[in-house]
Amino acid sequence: SRRIVSGIQPTGNLHLGNYLGAIRNWVRMQDEMAEANRIEAVEGGSAAQNQCLFFLADLHALSLPHDPAELRRGTLEMAAALVACGIDPARSILFNQAQVPAHAELQWLLSGTARMGWLNRMTQFKDKAGKHREGASIALFTYPVLQAADVLLYQATHVPVGEDQKQHLELARDIAQKFNNDFGGASDDDGKGGTIFTFPEPIIPPQAARIMSLRDGTAKMSKSDPSEMSRINLNDDADMIMKKVKKAKTDAEPLPSELDGLDGRAEALNLVTIYAAMTNTMPADVLAEFAGRGFGQFKPALGEVLVETLAPITGRFAALLKDREELDAILARGAAHARELARPTLSSAYEALGLVRVV
Ligand code: ATP
Ligand code: MG
Repeated sequence: SRRIVSGIQPTGNLHLGNYLGAIRNWVRMQDEMAEANRIEAVEGGSAAQNQCLFFLADLHALSLPHDPAELRRGTLEMAAALVACGIDPARSILFNQAQVPAHAELQWLLSGTARMGWLNRMTQFKDKAGKHREGASIALFTYPVLQAADVLLYQATHVPVGEDQKQHLELARDIAQKFNNDFGGASDDDGKGGTIFTFPEPIIPPQAARIMSLRDGTAKMSKSDPSEMSRINLNDDADMIMKKVKKAKTDAEPLPSELDGLDGRAEALNLVTIYAAMTNTMPADVLAEFAGRGFGQFKPALGEVLVETLAPITGRFAALLKDREELDAILARGAAHARELARPTLSSAYEALGLVRVV
């Protein structure tokens, strides 16, 4: 059975790009697991164990300069957004790292195994530290070890990783292998030592839509864009969504019947992409339906689709943001479950290292 572990930065001011580019992938993974469990239960008769653990990477946020109030707000907002978008705390384990101390504990236990040379090769540190490497935090340098702990702690079998994270997952596997080798005790036939940690396999997330600004089809839709009209926020109401779509930048041409007719028309392509993503179709299907029609007709149709599909999300999102007790309860339940899953692995790591604990 599969156990997928995935983390997300707890940022606030969420928008349509975050939903289509990141959050919806999680909802899909969760649904795939539920389906796999259903099929396996029918075939095997016993309850299947496929499971998703989704966490808010609040500890990782400490690796870059941050504002504590923003981190707190972003964490709660991201938790609310995830649940509003369909992450079901009853089916997936949803929590924030800070409430599961085993992440930080295991990071330290793994820090004796991870080599300076390995971390020195991480390109993301070089990118993020830039020219001022001496001024970078220790956390920025060692956070790939925390990432290794994040997944090894739960014996993750699969970890979704984008291009930029592949190297970190390799590192997690190297750490697992060396730890198993050095401290795994009785060696198996393969000479790899005992297996305290499972080697996590990468899964490449499905190609997510890249959503562009409503004001400029060549710029990514982003929370940092100063123009509110450039993005659809997850807390926009129906009127606001309609208004933003109607004011979106376009050109004067009608929609073409073929995709290559959108070459050089970045804004038109973006609106078609959004329509396709929201209706779970392909851009070519959208063109087949709207070929020859102008934006006077396409925009209201797009606005309606957005309002209809986002309404349940924005409604639940707003309600959850106002219900701190419910949010706290969701995160507390998820964390309790995560702590329970982490306990045996954490204990065997302590034990293997010769650390005396009377628990
Ligand atoms: P910033 O402007 O500060 O970078 P952002 O709006 O780009 O913020 P992030 O917090 O960087 O948002 O991204 C959170 C997640 O949402 C990431 O997985 C990122 O790939 C995804 N994402 C962000 N913007 C888009 C977009 N326009 N289209 C698709 N995915 C996006
Ligand atoms: Mg970004």
